Amino acid sequence: MNLIFLGPPGSGKGTQAAIAAKKGGFLHLSTGDLLRAAVKAGTPLGREAKGFMDRGALVPDALILALVEEVLAGGRAAKGFLLDGFPRTRVQAEGLEEMLKRRATRLDAVVVFAIPDGEILRRLTGRRTCRACGDPYHVEHRQPKIPDRCDKCGGELFQRDDDRSETIQNRLEVYHAQTGELIPYYRDRARVIELDATRPVDVVHAEMAKRLWSF
Ligand code: ADP
Ligand code: AMP
Repeated sequence: MNLIFLGPPGSGKGTQAAIAAKKGGFLHLSTGDLLRAAVKAGTPLGREAKGFMDRGALVPDALILALVEEVLAGGRAAKGFLLDGFPRTRVQAEGLEEMLKRRATRLDAVVVFAIPDGEILRRLTGRRTCRACGDPYHVEHRQPKIPDRCDKCGGELFQRDDDRSETIQNRLEVYHAQTGELIPYYRDRARVIELDATRPVDVVHAEMAKRLWSF
């Protein structure tokens, strides 16, 4: 299956993508995780992206499209892909369409994570992220088995710099101004599945699985 996960920061895209990717053997492609890895490694992309990320702005479309193209060309999406946090602008959506056309690859569905802004602040201020594999945890809702260690890979959990309340506000504004319009964009072009993302992780997963595999 080839899927896009679309929703505001903190709506649970990464959490659900990690679960679904593991179950289905899909490639979980998170542009946010890739960018954080590039920042950590100090690559030219990371140096360019850091300033945008720190203030909750979007990294320029050309950099993001080149990054996604490179990953898709790597051939790890043979069983399908879950795009998490990409596309985020109309230009990225059109760039993706071109990439898929060139590869004769079809998009199966766009999963939209619906959640009010008020709930997001609570989720993001409590989020902890694995430094090694990027998996998300939460201080209340999703605690690791061993404190501060990732269940999956044992990596150290940390709080992302952009998960502070001032930056979260910017990220939400950017989402509403630039990314929200992709919901009507995809309604005209793909199968769109809208989920109530305020419910517990396992309920959201079950609902998504049921609706994805029911066609
Ligand atoms: P996104 O990838 O959309 O930015 P995440 O998957 O990282 O969002 O989730 C944001 C935070 O909310 C994380 O701390 C995660 O553990 C927590 N979370 C994710 N889904 C749920 C849920 N259904 N209920 C409660 N907390 C959740
Ligand atoms: P995320 O992990 O998806 O919340 O992304 C963290 C940050 O990385 C965002 O606030 C942006 O600065 C940047 N970023 C991630 N994905 C994209 C994208 N598709 N387009 C532009 N910027 C992105």
